[in-house]
Amino acid sequence: MGNDGGSIPRRNEMVREKKKDEKADRKNQAIALNFFCALSKQPLEQPIVGDELGRLYNREAILEYLLDRSAFGDGHTICENIQCLKDVKTLNVTPNPAALNSERQQANGGKKPALLSFDAQPTSRFLCPITMKEMNGNMPFEFIWSCGCVFSAQARKELPTSTTCIVCDKPYDLVDVIPINSQDSKVADELRERMRARREAREDKKRAAKSKSKPKSKRKLDVSGSVEEVNIAVAGPADAPLPSSPLASKAGVKGAKVQKTMA
Ligand SMILES: [Zn+2]
Repeated sequence: MGNDGGSIPRRNEMVREKKKDEKADRKNQAIALNFFCALSKQPLEQPIVGDELGRLYNREAILEYLLDRSAFGDGHTICENIQCLKDVKTLNVTPNPAALNSERQQANGGKKPALLSFDAQPTSRFLCPITMKEMNGNMPFEFIWSCGCVFSAQARKELPTSTTCIVCDKPYDLVDVIPINSQDSKVADELRERMRARREAREDKKRAAKSKSKPKSKRKLDVSGSVEEVNIAVAGPADAPLPSSPLASKAGVKGAKVQKTMA
């Protein structure tokens, strides 16, 4: 291939090598993102949660982080968008029986699980329940923020007009479809924007619920109470009108009329 025996590598050979390296980097990155918790860097294990930016975590790691923000060193940089458990969604993932079997076999043989090795294409612990394709970073996967179901993007594209989740059948909004570990910066921007809007709506709902629970009706009663008091004063005895109040003097006139007819 050139670069041995003192020969100078040609440009196209260098470009080819660079492309090979980039491909290997992308593959390793896809494995890191889809097989490991973004926070603890431990293999993903159920229960798994996803955030609104499409990153995957072990729920246990997130709980630990929320209790102690310094538990994972750079946790505050990775999870700057996670302030409470409402900021993540527990995912409904489909286990891959092949991964379970191979892990069991390897454990029996004293080997470490294949997913901890970057040498070969490891077997994912999870797959798409529709296409049965593995969630290993080779093809895009998604989850729905409202129900948490995980599937391949291809599965949803096969049913483009469906407005209910292809796994649990619950209705969903298109803005709640979150691509998992997308490397596209445009997608990342879009997800951040949607996250901001979703959280604003959440705050609005909280504020509305708070103002609803305030005892407004009591204040209304007070108002009607004082109105009633005024009415009583107006219909009061005719011989005691308050000259400064036009209402009271009117009542006085009325009272006098009544007295006249009585006589
Ligand atoms: Zn669902």
